[in-house]
Amino acid sequence: MKTSDPEAETAEHAAPESRPSNFIRDIILDDLKTNKFNGRVQTRFPPEPNGYLHIGHAKAICLDFGLADEFGGHTNLRFDDTNPQKEDTEYVDSIKADVQWLGYRWDGLFYASDYFDQLYDWALKLIRDGKAYVDDLSAEEIRKYRGTLTEPGKNSPYRNRSVEENLDLFQRMKAKEFPDGSHVLRAKIDMTSPNLNMRDPVMYRILHAEHHRTGNKWCIYPMYDFAHGQSDSLEKVTHSMCTLEFEDHRPLYNWFIQQLGIFPSQQIEFDRLNLTHTLLSKRKLLQLVQEGRVRGWDDPRMPTLSGIRRRGYTPEAIRNFTASIGVSKTTGSIELAMLEHFVREDLNKRALRVMAVLRPLKVVIDNYPENQVEEMDAVNNPEDATAGSRRVPFSRVLYIEQDDFREVPPPKYFRLTPGREVRLRYGYLITATSVVKNDKGEVVEVHCTYDPATRGGNTPDGRKVKATIHWVSAAHAVDAEVRIYENLFLKENPSDVEEGQDVLDNLNPNSLEIIAEAKVEPSLANAAAGTRYQFERLGYFSVDPDSQPGRPVFNRTVALKDTWGKLEKKQGKG
Ligand code: ATP
Ligand code: MG
Repeated sequence: MKTSDPEAETAEHAAPESRPSNFIRDIILDDLKTNKFNGRVQTRFPPEPNGYLHIGHAKAICLDFGLADEFGGHTNLRFDDTNPQKEDTEYVDSIKADVQWLGYRWDGLFYASDYFDQLYDWALKLIRDGKAYVDDLSAEEIRKYRGTLTEPGKNSPYRNRSVEENLDLFQRMKAKEFPDGSHVLRAKIDMTSPNLNMRDPVMYRILHAEHHRTGNKWCIYPMYDFAHGQSDSLEKVTHSMCTLEFEDHRPLYNWFIQQLGIFPSQQIEFDRLNLTHTLLSKRKLLQLVQEGRVRGWDDPRMPTLSGIRRRGYTPEAIRNFTASIGVSKTTGSIELAMLEHFVREDLNKRALRVMAVLRPLKVVIDNYPENQVEEMDAVNNPEDATAGSRRVPFSRVLYIEQDDFREVPPPKYFRLTPGREVRLRYGYLITATSVVKNDKGEVVEVHCTYDPATRGGNTPDGRKVKATIHWVSAAHAVDAEVRIYENLFLKENPSDVEEGQDVLDNLNPNSLEIIAEAKVEPSLANAAAGTRYQFERLGYFSVDPDSQPGRPVFNRTVALKDTWGKLEKKQGKG
């Protein structure tokens, strides 16, 4: 999703203005018109490798890569790895895999740590220019001196050190002469600025910690705020998109860029994605993993890209979803049901239909020949004629869903019940005649008769039946495990916690149900991990990597019922 053709880097290749736009795209269109940045569009996606990416990051990725692609620009993947204590190569690898899975290819692959030498030199320059100083106040004291939104800050007693003294101390900080926390390097800006970020922000701190890429070379590390803007600038990023909480940091980034006289990347802020019933914070997701509340970062209940991938979500669905929510300057919350709607919409087009029975009830067709097996033609995907058809074995003993039979039917129940005729999908019409019960009085077997003239589900006399149910042939069925997922959090806003409680107290205790004895049609015996199906009448399911030959494991991706789509139709948008 990139182009290496330098010719393509001009406004002439810009897409027509009739596309659905958003305010960021409009800014870029304007910049192309005025030839700001010489008609170049260069973006970057800058994750910190301190956890796995989540669906919120997908919004940023689609924006960064999507806009650059649209205008023939470039996008770098840059790891903002300035905090060695929380970062790890496992996260670097997962982030790369997730970006690729979403369908994007980066141009340059960079790390903020690539720039540590340059950043250090720039820090020296700021010291020489009298724009930075070494402070000996403790972190606590710095906080106190900083003031508040209503009170100005106070100058540190060390603020007026000479350039020589500052240079000496900073070089010795680098030379491992001082313990953690004893000194910091601060920008000398304005302790009375109404913007707290401008009150002499810390640029460097001492941290005797091994870095995943630079090892033990450094014991001083730049703060994110001293690294981010200059990293953008070094890469000649034109449009640097980030979330709204960095709006107040922009003046600081611009201050550094001005003092250093370097390429002026333009930062544009947009709203973070928030989803109902979902936590989007690497820190909190890490806690779920570390405390064993989920099976790992790729647990299908997790909003991580690796989790939703395992669950069966498609990159197309996610890209369509992010395109549809757009970007704005106000933070809101998107219904999880809307994301699910896009997953269904995409899977409806591509998932092969199969029959699976989650909670089996045995059906015996008394008048069907004992050893006969018929191969019934079944359509693979009514939405896709090229998907063809397959043959499904039919025999005298079948399984149907327990829910599809009621000995005493409630009102409006049209499925199987004694004396009632229903259609077996792709099979015959059957009528229930009697039941067999166990000691507890539960129905364990339903006896039926079939009408041999109704093969394929048609009635020669035109009589109607009100229900069509799915089934599998008992002798041919494959045993399968099916994992049914519900929201990880019951509350719409999981962070809404009672006094003295933690977000994790809001976890839904029933977010995972394991059905160990489902029966699926034989074509699924060796289904490959990652394959997605529609189990007719039940939902979309994907094959889990835990599957064994002859014993597949399925994750329910999403049920069939589309509450969001219905709502849209009602509102006349559908
Ligand atoms: P988290 O709080 O989950 O750790 P973060 O913002 O600290 O998220 P980064 O690794 O710094 O994570 O994020 C990389 C990029 O993704 C940033 O540009 C950030 O603004 C963007 N991003 C992170 N979360 C979201 C979100 N929920 N919606 C949109 N963009 C996001
Ligand atoms: Mg972060």
